[in-house]
Amino acid sequence: MRRRQMLIASGTVVAATATGVMSQPSGDNALLTVAREPGSATESSTATETILSGTVHETTVFERDAPRDGPTAMIFGGVHGDERTGIEVARDTTEWYPDAGTLVVVPETNRIAVDENTREGPEGDLNRHFPAGKEPVSDLARGIWDAVERYDPDVVLDLHRSLGIAGVHQQYVGQAVYHSSDSYGDELASYLNDVAVPWYMPLHRISARRTHSGGPLLFQKAIRDLDATGYLFETTDFMLDRDTRNEHTRLAAAKTLALHGLLEVGNN
Ligand SMILES: [Zn+2]
Repeated sequence: MRRRQMLIASGTVVAATATGVMSQPSGDNALLTVAREPGSATESSTATETILSGTVHETTVFERDAPRDGPTAMIFGGVHGDERTGIEVARDTTEWYPDAGTLVVVPETNRIAVDENTREGPEGDLNRHFPAGKEPVSDLARGIWDAVERYDPDVVLDLHRSLGIAGVHQQYVGQAVYHSSDSYGDELASYLNDVAVPWYMPLHRISARRTHSGGPLLFQKAIRDLDATGYLFETTDFMLDRDTRNEHTRLAAAKTLALHGLLEVGNN
């Protein structure tokens, strides 16, 4: 009920200022169209692989090669099984066509947790199972990491959702791009603020935050052990409906691919 009232309240602001100089975010249909349409990538080849086959963790990896050489990017959804935004957007990206390089997607990384709609699954928090320079600490994490090592991605993007907003709500991490030092984290955040975050929701502006190197998160291990450029994107449940969360996350995924040259856009 509370959320509904807040959404109505912000709708009222829009109505009151619609004739003013408000800069309404337009989304970015051009970028998403480039991602979704085969375009020059009609000769792309697709493959799927089942990893952790025959185990309770069995899950599918989707790979699409563009006709032109370029970097390999890996997108993960469902590391936390109750964060549906990341799962849904990762599934979307399995239908995208890179113009260069290779796009590898694991939409349901923590398969049991996704099926049960829980954060962790039976082995605990998967995103704490990837210590630097050491073996992953669970069967699931080992299986996922084996696949990461085989694809040897240049870019890793892990999609998440928090209850609150980083820097606004203590202990929450939403509306933020966590990134390695060699990344386009600042560009990605400012792009999302331009195209996706309305001016009347200043708390929802997306911040770019350099990741610390000591953590046991999947993207941190890819940064350290494989020298990948890493991103972890967090949207939030707070005052954002599902479609909006998904749109923020979808644009984050598309822009990351564009910034790294997998999608060819006029002026990215
Ligand atoms: Zn998460």
